[in-house]
Amino acid sequence: MAGVQTGISPFAGLLRFCSVSLPHLQSRLSDAAEDAVKELLPASANDDLASLCSWADRVKFRYHWSSPLHFIDTPDDLCTYQYTRDCKDEDGVKGRCVAGAINNYTSQLLTYGSSQADYNLTEALLFLSHLMGDVHQPLHVGFTTDKGGNTIDVKWYNTKTVLHHVWDTNIIETAEEQFYDSNIGDLIDAIEKNITTEWADQVPKWEICSGNKTACPDIYASEGIKAACNWSYKGVREDSVLEDDYFLSRLPIITFRLAQGGVRLAATLNRIFG
Ligand SMILES: [Zn+2]
Repeated sequence: MAGVQTGISPFAGLLRFCSVSLPHLQSRLSDAAEDAVKELLPASANDDLASLCSWADRVKFRYHWSSPLHFIDTPDDLCTYQYTRDCKDEDGVKGRCVAGAINNYTSQLLTYGSSQADYNLTEALLFLSHLMGDVHQPLHVGFTTDKGGNTIDVKWYNTKTVLHHVWDTNIIETAEEQFYDSNIGDLIDAIEKNITTEWADQVPKWEICSGNKTACPDIYASEGIKAACNWSYKGVREDSVLEDDYFLSRLPIITFRLAQGGVRLAATLNRIFG
């Protein structure tokens, strides 16, 4: 199937994470986590988390409060992230960023199976799964002034777009078309194969979340802003034309982050549900 023509859609990046990182997720879940996920998913999902993983983007229009939970704005050009400094919304309300939201929904899900479970744990699961993808997208942790690359106009080959969208969509879409004959399944297989071969030594480190914590979004956000500086923003100015050089050097970063996001979501769900 040809890449979906999305235009500048806020859903696009997550569709990539959902379709690329989540199919191999279920094979990494413990039995308890898999059972919990199946119980929490609505029947319409047919036990497939990937099918609802862009729900959190669609619901932004109804749950206006949830918009700031998809990203983090860090100080321009600093290339660092600190929870206490950066995790806030535009009004300065602390904890309202993707890292705070991951912690919050993790805490909610930890009440699963207990009598104090007052929360909507289906929504908590859908938010957590989605936001774990967002925090791994380099420009979802980006500079404040350019809104994570959303105000930087660029050309992707001949198409006008913005830098954020290049990272959410264009790079993966072009890879699908050029290397995988527009077959997302082949791209998923390639990433899955890397997880068990080239990256196999690193995977246990990706999964670590020390200090008795269940979720570790600060680590992922720190990596994210570093990747944004070293790869997303690097060499890009307003009206830059991004072509093969940029595409070929950045594609491995995206696939690596997609793999990390999927592995870490599974590890987090395993810690939550046992
Ligand atoms: Zn999102």
